[in-house]
Amino acid sequence: MIPKETVDLILDTARIDEVVGEFVSLKKRGANMLGLCPFHNEKTPSFNVSPSRGIYKCFGCGKGGNSVNFIMEHEHLSYPEALRWLATKYNIAIEEEERNPEQLQRDNDRESIFVVLQYAQKHFTKNLHDTEEGKAIGMSYFRERGFRPDIIEKFQLGYSPEGWRDLTDSAIHAGYKLEYLVRAGLTIQNEENKEKYFDRFQGRVIFPVHNASGRVIAFGGRTLKTDKKVAKYINSPETEVYHKSNVLYGLYFAKKAIIQEDVCYLVEGYTDVISMHQAGIENVVASSGTALTIEQIRLIRRYTNNITILYDGDPAGIKASFRGIDLILEEGLNVRVLLFPDNDDPDSYSKKVSSEELRDFIKNNTKDFIAFKTELLLSETQNDPIRKAELIREMVNSIALIPDNITRSVFVKECSRIMNIEEQTLLNELNKIRRRNFEKKKDSVVEQNNFVPDVAAQPTEQPALQQQTRTEYQEREIVRLLFNYGLEPITAETEDEEGRAMEIQVSLAEFMLHELSDEHIVFETPV
Ligand code: ATP
Ligand code: MN
Repeated sequence: MIPKETVDLILDTARIDEVVGEFVSLKKRGANMLGLCPFHNEKTPSFNVSPSRGIYKCFGCGKGGNSVNFIMEHEHLSYPEALRWLATKYNIAIEEEERNPEQLQRDNDRESIFVVLQYAQKHFTKNLHDTEEGKAIGMSYFRERGFRPDIIEKFQLGYSPEGWRDLTDSAIHAGYKLEYLVRAGLTIQNEENKEKYFDRFQGRVIFPVHNASGRVIAFGGRTLKTDKKVAKYINSPETEVYHKSNVLYGLYFAKKAIIQEDVCYLVEGYTDVISMHQAGIENVVASSGTALTIEQIRLIRRYTNNITILYDGDPAGIKASFRGIDLILEEGLNVRVLLFPDNDDPDSYSKKVSSEELRDFIKNNTKDFIAFKTELLLSETQNDPIRKAELIREMVNSIALIPDNITRSVFVKECSRIMNIEEQTLLNELNKIRRRNFEKKKDSVVEQNNFVPDVAAQPTEQPALQQQTRTEYQEREIVRLLFNYGLEPITAETEDEEGRAMEIQVSLAEFMLHELSDEHIVFETPV
């Protein structure tokens, strides 16, 4: 808890024009100030700041509030976090709440690791700019790749020289503890003989990895040797501050642009992110070296609901990423896809064309995932009906993951059109799959209940759905069908007076209600 007096002091001290001014360039307009709104994309300024009243208001998107609201909204922070942010800006001390010795120790350890990482970043960067080896090897490599000096600086790129202990020894000399260098993943220590240790990164150009608030948490190092036996990239191991499945490379530099453009581009690695920035496209992140994870998708969702995956043209890589697409759909985000031609990746393509052309290319070639996946797989089915059926099932499986009903039905329509197959057939299949997924989910919740009594550890998504019984689900499904398709004519089989099979045209509602009463089915769910 932050004491009330401190909160008041922060609110009194923080000047709205100064706070907003850190992120938005403001021009004076009478008693107020005016700028481009950081919360939506606009070309003419409609974002007003009133220093006298201590508030901001955008007449374009309607966002408004005081300094704390602004920081919460802009930096995606909670109320207390925003207060702390302002306290730091204005050098206001916050008396920390009591913490037990264990917590304090853990905080201190994490902080020590962060500090060592920061030292390492500065050291690597200094090597790149100021040492003969760094300039001759590292810097000339980046220049050859076409990285501009301002970009090299922005991403805090660096160089680690050949040799065993350049970083470790200089850090120890500067007073940092070997223990934290090891825990930061920078130094590798021999298990048996603790006197033996060496740098993890040797003779490599260095890409620091930042967390969402801009602190260095890990590094990637690329070798400049062409020897195939040497790993091209090595990365920091998992540490107390670096869990690679929770990190997106470039997010810190991309946050603002992702919000403004309301879309996040997902690329493969460091060089793709950096080259896109250099081409003026900043809403880009990479899931370096791992398949996309749920945690990474949730990170993106803090800023936008739209993800566009940028692929190079390697079909094996693309297929491997289908799981990622399904994960994104399952999280309720919209996913689009862009394929670069001729084995180009975002890095190489952006070097061949102007920034304008790159923007246009992205704009004109981005496809929704249905069109993309179908096109890609359809070329393989070669009119083989069995393969085509598999493909359709594959598509429906993906669509079934989308939580939103409307989005789902839009994609069913599109799939029906592209694959030239009855929408109703797709819907039947879709509902079957959704019921199956639902049952699976329910079972896994039951299992979790048996083994993990801790309620907080259960998945939080769709609690309402999980608690429904099978009957409730089916009854709801019947009502849904009645609402959506009640008036649709269908052909039903029945018998005539003499017991001969015959077909009749009825509405779906007539048919279902007739069947229900025939079977004496009464709904259990009162609502
Ligand atoms: P080249 O100059 O040969 O194209 P590159 O440095 O661009 O080499 P690629 O092999 O094209 O590397 O890979 C593209 C991206 O994938 C790189 O920017 C890198 O970030 C990422 N990447 C590749 N291998 C790894 C790895 N083992 N760990 C982390 N990232 C990797
Ligand atoms: Mn490359």
